[in-house]
Amino acid sequence: MSDTDTRDPTSLRTPIVAVLGHVDHGKTSLLDKIRGSAVIEGEAGAITQHIGATAVPLDIVSSIAGDLVDPEDFDLPGLLFIDTPGHHSFTTLRSRGGALADIAILVVDVNDGFQPQTLEALDILRRSETPFIVAANKIDTVPGWNENEDSPINATYESQTDRVQGRLDEQLYEIIGNLSDEGFSADLYWRVQNFQRNVGVVPVSAMTGEGVPDLLAVMMGLSQRYMKEEMEIDVTGPGVGTVLEVKEEKGFGKTVDIVLYDGTIRADDQLVVGGQNDPIVTDVRALLQPRPLAEIRTESRFEKVDEVSAAAGIKVAAPELDDAMAGAPVRVVRDRNLEDVVHEVQAELADIAVDTEEQG
Ligand code: GDP
Repeated sequence: MSDTDTRDPTSLRTPIVAVLGHVDHGKTSLLDKIRGSAVIEGEAGAITQHIGATAVPLDIVSSIAGDLVDPEDFDLPGLLFIDTPGHHSFTTLRSRGGALADIAILVVDVNDGFQPQTLEALDILRRSETPFIVAANKIDTVPGWNENEDSPINATYESQTDRVQGRLDEQLYEIIGNLSDEGFSADLYWRVQNFQRNVGVVPVSAMTGEGVPDLLAVMMGLSQRYMKEEMEIDVTGPGVGTVLEVKEEKGFGKTVDIVLYDGTIRADDQLVVGGQNDPIVTDVRALLQPRPLAEIRTESRFEKVDEVSAAAGIKVAAPELDDAMAGAPVRVVRDRNLEDVVHEVQAELADIAVDTEEQG
């Protein structure tokens, strides 16, 4: 593709979304719900498979969110959710010294309220200056709740009795009060005018899907409004990413799962990967994506692709990956000077080491 690439070189990538929150507050369930809804709404095969991440393209966001998202209003291509929720993954996964995630969802159980890991998450978000919204989860557990599967919050709220509405209001205001105690001015998302100044709270149920249309609409709107410039990338440029995980894979040896946040990676690229000691210089042997479920029985779980553009999750098979480490930078060399790229990776690794010491 290299010499004949006719695409517009500047393009907008999908924002990368992370999910944080206290244990058992519903991070995994929320990701599962979003993934499940995306699969149902997408025609078979329409959803590109990713490694370690779930892509929800704009047209699928719009079919899940209904009237809340008109695709005409957006030019960002959708949202990419990192599949491993939690603080560890958030703090390990970095890009150019900052957080890899462009935006975060902080999940808070409406019954359980603020807990130690909720506070820890807020601290991490504050320090990394990551914009976030709060998903006030498990609204379906309010006694007497009338379930309306996958409904936007407004419609389901209107269908509740006064008593149920009152109880939910109390729980939501408690969360808003807790956020304020932590120095974040927050409000129910439909009252927020400026998401840069105020944190929006979205009532949801990861179980019934209620409020999920709103959650996706707010994430999409916030990204479009405040992060568009940061999403401008050179799609044809050399890829830049972060290692999610280092894994042994039958038939391929050691592989790295990476999240690519800039440029393109191709099956014939040379790479520099951050290692436990020195940067590793290696050549891509194969770029692997999960094979659609229907085809798995007969063949390998993965299929080879020629190239992938940001933002994306992809598995890379290459020699010499034994010392590669999660959280380390990955850079495609392509037509640049190898030494320069090695130095860039070294500098990023040094940054990570300093930060780890500071936090440790
Ligand atoms: P995580 O530790 O934050 O990833 O939490 P999980 O997603 O594993 O959820 C913890 C428990 O809460 C599980 O038993 C879920 O089924 C349950 N749960 C999560 N979200 C909801 C929800 O919206 N409503 C109800 N009723 N239960 C939920």
